[in-house]
Order: sequence, then C-alpha cells, then structure tokens
Amino acid sequence: MPEHETSTDVLVIGGGMAGLAGALALRENGADVTLVERAAEFGEVGAGLQMAPNASRILKRWGLLEKALEIGVRPKHLVFRDAVTGEELTRQTLGGEFEERYGAPYLVIHRSDLHRILLEACQAAGVRLVNNVLVEGVETVDGRGVAHTASGVDYEADVVIGADGLKSTLRATVSDDGPVPSAFVAYRGTVPVTESTPTAHLEDVVVYLGPDCHLVQYPLRKGELLNTVAVFKSASFARGEEQYGGVDELEAAYKDCVPAVREALANLGTAARWPMYDRDPIENWVAGRMVLMGDAAHPMLQYLAQGACQALEDAAVLQDVSHGTVFTAAGIHPDAWDGAIREFNTLRAGRTAKVQRAARLWGESWHVSGLARTLRNLLFRSRQDGNFQYNDWLYGDDGFGVPAAARPGATVAEKTVAEQGAA
Ligand SMILES: Cc1cc2nc3c(=O)[nH]c(=O)nc-3n(C[C@H](O)[C@H](O)[C@H](O)COP(=O)(O)OP(=O)(O)OC[C@H]3O[C@@H](n4cnc5c(N)ncnc54)[C@H](O)[C@@H]3O)c2cc1C
Repeated sequence: MPEHETSTDVLVIGGGMAGLAGALALRENGADVTLVERAAEFGEVGAGLQMAPNASRILKRWGLLEKALEIGVRPKHLVFRDAVTGEELTRQTLGGEFEERYGAPYLVIHRSDLHRILLEACQAAGVRLVNNVLVEGVETVDGRGVAHTASGVDYEADVVIGADGLKSTLRATVSDDGPVPSAFVAYRGTVPVTESTPTAHLEDVVVYLGPDCHLVQYPLRKGELLNTVAVFKSASFARGEEQYGGVDELEAAYKDCVPAVREALANLGTAARWPMYDRDPIENWVAGRMVLMGDAAHPMLQYLAQGACQALEDAAVLQDVSHGTVFTAAGIHPDAWDGAIREFNTLRAGRTAKVQRAARLWGESWHVSGLARTLRNLLFRSRQDGNFQYNDWLYGDDGFGVPAAARPGATVAEKTVAEQGAA
C-alpha cells in the first residue's frame, strides 16, 4: 500500500506543464490536490519554449513571471525570413507597444526551467506529488472519480483531471480518435553561444521559411544558449516507412537554403527525432467526474508555439470556473464540479479548436513553394511591424474564447485590444 493518502479533492494525472499548472491553479483555490506521474522523476525533454503574452499573463497572475524572466530571455523581435534567399519578410517588435497591448512580455525559456518553476510552485503550495504511478483508466463511482493504476492501487477524488498528453490513455474515455501524423519531423538542439555565433540570432526569435521545411532559432538562459529547431517534411513518411525522417533526410531537406540555415543544422542533436502529431478537435472532454486538459484535450502542431500556452490558459480557466462554485467562502462543494467542468469544457473547446486549426494552416503557409511561396512572401512583406490584426485573437484573449475586455474587471491593456479589434 502507498504511504500517502489515495483519497483527495482533486486528482491530476500527468506531471507535464498542463498537469502541474492545473494542480497549482486548483491548490490555490483551496483544494487538497494529488498529482500522479508515471515517470520515476519529474522533468521535461527538449529545448526551448516560446511563451506568448496570453500565457505569460497567467504566469504573472500566479506570481511566477519574475522567476521565468530571471532565467529566460525577452526576445526583441519575432522575425520571419525566406530560407532560400535569406530575405527578411516581416518582423514584430516584441517590447514597447506589443507588451503594453497584451499586458505581459513575450518570453523564451528552456522547457526544463519552466517545468521546474511550476514544479517548485506546486511543492511550495502543498500539492502531493507522486511518481511511478501509471494510470490505466478512470471511472466515476457514486459521484467520485476513481483512477485505476497498474500497481492495483486505486486513487479517488471529487474530480479527476486528465493531463496525460498527446498519447493520452484517458482520452479514450471520451473519444476513439488517435494522434494524426503530419509527415513532418523535428530535430532540436541547444548549443552554448560563442564568439562565432551569428549575432542575428542572439536577441530575436528568427523563423526561416522554406519549401517543406523551416528552421527556428532563439537564445535561451539569458543568452548563454542558442536554441535551434529544424522541421521538415519526410519523404519516407509518404513511402510508409515506420522510422521516417532520418538524418539523411534532414540534410537533404535544407540543401537549397541559405548558408545561415544549412550551417545551423550542426547545432541539432541527432540522437532523437520528433515526428510531429496533432489530433482533430473534439467537443467533449468530460466523462462523469473526469475532464481532460492540455495536450490530452487539444494537441496541436507547434507552428503557433501555443501548446503549453493553451495548457496554462486551461489551468487559469479551471481555476476561475471552480472559484465561487466548488470553492466558496463557506467551504468546498464537490457537487458543483459537474457544472464547473462542463463550463470549463464549453469555454475552452471552441478556443482551442480554433488554435489547433490555425496552427495547421499557419504551418502550411510556411512550407509552400512556387507561386504560393511568391504570394506568401508578398503578403508577409506588405505587413507592417506593429500591425496586430493577426495577433489579437490569440494574445489578447485570456482563454475564455471572448476578448478579455468583454469580461468585468478587464485591464486597460485588455480594453485597448478590444476597442482596436472592434474598430
Ligand atoms: C517541437 C515542439 C515545439 C514546441 N514549441 C512550443 C512553444 O514554443 N510554445 C508552446 O506553448 N508549446 C510548444 N510546444 C507544445 C508543448 O510542448 C506541449 O503542448 C506541452 O508540453 C504539452 O504539455 P502536457 O502536460 O499537456 O503534455 P505532456 O508534456 O506530454 O505531459 C504528459 C505527462 O503525463 C504523463 N503520463 C502520460 N500518461 C500517463 C499515465 N497513463 N499515467 C500517469 N502519467 C502519465 C507523462 O509521463 C507526462 O509527464 C511544442 C511542441 C513541440 C513538439
């Protein structure tokens, strides 16, 4: 038998960004929260993560933004270039007006740093964190969620939050769908910044757009590291090969790109490759007293850099819908969870479906060739720095699927976004 309590107010399954954020949010509301994770240790693999203001506003609300900024980088610009010619197509300045408009900075941070910040916040808040627990299924019995684990121990809670990622076991409770392969494969790497590192990549997020490929670079850890991500369409995927997207294909995919791009491939780790998946949006994330969040609910392609950002929005909305309903000054009302998780699902499914679909389209526009590339470049070149028409819906929303200014208590920055959006 485990040494810890297996009956709790809230059980969170999965210790990725989504699970930790959800656990922290509900613990802050006053719940007794247990988070179980199948891995022996908490941690994140991979390199950098972009946190747009819709997510950094949430870090700010939880008092974690300063910690993230201490170790992260505030890039000066988001710059798009053509990977074949090297030409700059458009840029967005990320400080000044951008930051004022959205009420928080654009931030880039090492995944393991953000994960640690959330983990430490959970520990400090008193979330019970348990490793080596593989959940095999959840059912609702007598109004409580019961999680069955591989060890035979059952955990029960008033509500179970399924944050078990892209390949979610719990999603099978609400849908029979599966991950959708995109045919694209990512390689990632971080290298120390040295005197020979091109200065163009030390202050900005730079995205090179090429036919069937792109490459992203930005600094991490106060500019000490350079993060590189290369993503390309695998020819062997189309041939039905299981281990598609090998290193030979990586080299070939960038052969027509400018030297700055080809040389950046040397920064990548080639021991691991990440085939890119998402899933089609689904409307229902709720089964009895279990609700999905994060990639388990809405996995998306990474082109908008929003997967983790949307997980933070999930957590903030879950915090808001349960505050004053489940958690009141008079105490905790478990019966109110049925309404709260339904409301959460309703508020979030539309917004995240839009982000999932937009991510697919945005990626398509990056990878075009021929006439489509010429037209894409014309459109990008015609856009002025400081034109927010493509950003407001994403960065000016707090996750409720309506402009933040439409809700009581909106900040001046949020009202500005709404007024300018309406004009
Ligand atoms: C190349 C790439 C670049 C990206 N860049 C960005 C970016 O710049 N900005 C951004 O916001 N997002 C980005 N994302 C997306 C982001 O990484 C994900 O959306 C986010 O990490 C998902 O977090 P999660 O907690 O939902 O899932 P996961 O990180 O997958 O966590 C799920 C956790 O659940 C555990 N688990 C799974 N099954 C069980 C089980 N049965 N029982 C117990 N535990 C279980 C797992 O071990 C894991 O710890 C990127 C993704 C990729 C691939």
